[in-house]
Amino acid sequence: MAPMPIATQNPATAEVLQTFEPHTPEQVQAAIATAHATFQQWRLTSFAHRGELLRRAADLLDEDNETIARVMTLEMGKTLKSARAEAAKCAKGMRWYAEHAESLLADEPVDPTSVGASRAFARYAPLGIVLAVMPWNFPLWQVVRFAAPALMAGNVGLLKHASNVPQCALYLEDLFRRAGFPDGCFTTLLIGAREVEGVLRDPRVRAATLTGSEPAGQSVGAICGDEIKKTVLELGGADPFLVLPSADVERAAQVAVTARCQNNGQSCIAAKRFIVHTDVYDAFAEAFVRHMSALVVGDPMDEATDVGPLATEGGLRDVAAMVDDARGKGASVLCGGRALEGPGWFYQPTVVADLTTDMAMFAEEVFGPVAGLYRVADLDEAITLANGTTFGLGSNAWTNDPDEIDRCIRDLDAGVVTINGMTVSYPELPFGGTKRSGYGRELSAHGIREFCQIKAVWVG
Ligand code: NAP
Repeated sequence: MAPMPIATQNPATAEVLQTFEPHTPEQVQAAIATAHATFQQWRLTSFAHRGELLRRAADLLDEDNETIARVMTLEMGKTLKSARAEAAKCAKGMRWYAEHAESLLADEPVDPTSVGASRAFARYAPLGIVLAVMPWNFPLWQVVRFAAPALMAGNVGLLKHASNVPQCALYLEDLFRRAGFPDGCFTTLLIGAREVEGVLRDPRVRAATLTGSEPAGQSVGAICGDEIKKTVLELGGADPFLVLPSADVERAAQVAVTARCQNNGQSCIAAKRFIVHTDVYDAFAEAFVRHMSALVVGDPMDEATDVGPLATEGGLRDVAAMVDDARGKGASVLCGGRALEGPGWFYQPTVVADLTTDMAMFAEEVFGPVAGLYRVADLDEAITLANGTTFGLGSNAWTNDPDEIDRCIRDLDAGVVTINGMTVSYPELPFGGTKRSGYGRELSAHGIREFCQIKAVWVG
């Protein structure tokens, strides 16, 4: 496949607005050298100093909220209101790590007498340069949830962002610079996917984090395996959303719509498979289809819009092909099911029922506003179906029965279990997947410790 050009192309009109020259190999080398030199100083700075800079970055981001939200919407089509919320969430995440990093990374003492020492403890030491390969779908949040803990831990970051969000990528570098972070602390590389290997193999680059598709994760994971470098992989998902008889079905149906269509249906943790107990199936299906059909699809800059375009033409093609495949093999399309006529990459909010295992939609990730609806006889069948994909990112269950809640928490094979709600990431809670959704964790104490090396210290 030809490499993606690095460009801003408005998904609402398909118009190419600006193209960017990729960085040359010499520029990439210079960026790595600066990052490496900066790390030698940055790792010696105090948590208080790092926190002060990160708080300043959060304040600047709040001041820029409207401007950067418009850039996000322009580059990848999320609704302006959700772009504003994403930028605000980033500022909040920065402040959280600014406040908590020091205690999360405090030395962990052990009883010195038990190891014959006068002092003994574990210390979290920074690694050095971490390369972040990031996707376009949350163009600020995906980066900030890596950058805030990494910088607080004393690491420095290189960002290879998705090729369709270069202005967001450059904005982030500029934001950290304006906040006072020294040159080389956080650097955006304008490079294509093919140039990632050279960066990963550079001995000065110590680790990598990738959020994106399975093939990209496999590639980065394989190269880093070869180089014996730490990786965190946040990959795709086909999250289940269980609705059981004791649930508030109307509320579940309303939240199901947001859980599926947030970010125009392009979220790794969007609920994608709606698995409903037969006793409440008809009521849920009726309410769900009603709410999905009522969504306003249109210009993402318009305040009234609920669902904007898909971010790329390829993304639209994939979603349309999956629905057509299901329809062709006998599935029922309960609402939507078509791309919109005219310019831009819009797809109608869609609910598909009567799915069977020979359909791509049955277990693959649908990255658009398309829900699969499944009828099950009992909780056992629901859990088997929920766990029956190669993914294990988020999972959602709606029930008011305490035993069922315990059972779902225990048996849903996923990195996140959400009861009577929809999967959301919070700085306070670890975030990540299992199985082919990836490994490693972001956010919380777990996220900041991923890119630290743990030193055992024994003092006689
Ligand atoms: P993608 O094609 O994998 O792109 C993600 C990033 O990886 C981009 O920067 C891309 O660069 C780069 N990339 C692609 N192939 C690569 C390779 N072989 N080697 C190195 N880098 C490579 O992903 P996408 O389709 O844009 O994003 C959607 C996917 O991300 C979905 O599967 C979604 O579920 C997943 N996702 C997961 C999470 C999570 O936290 N688990 C969060 C958000 C999204 P170019 O743009 O230059 O190709």
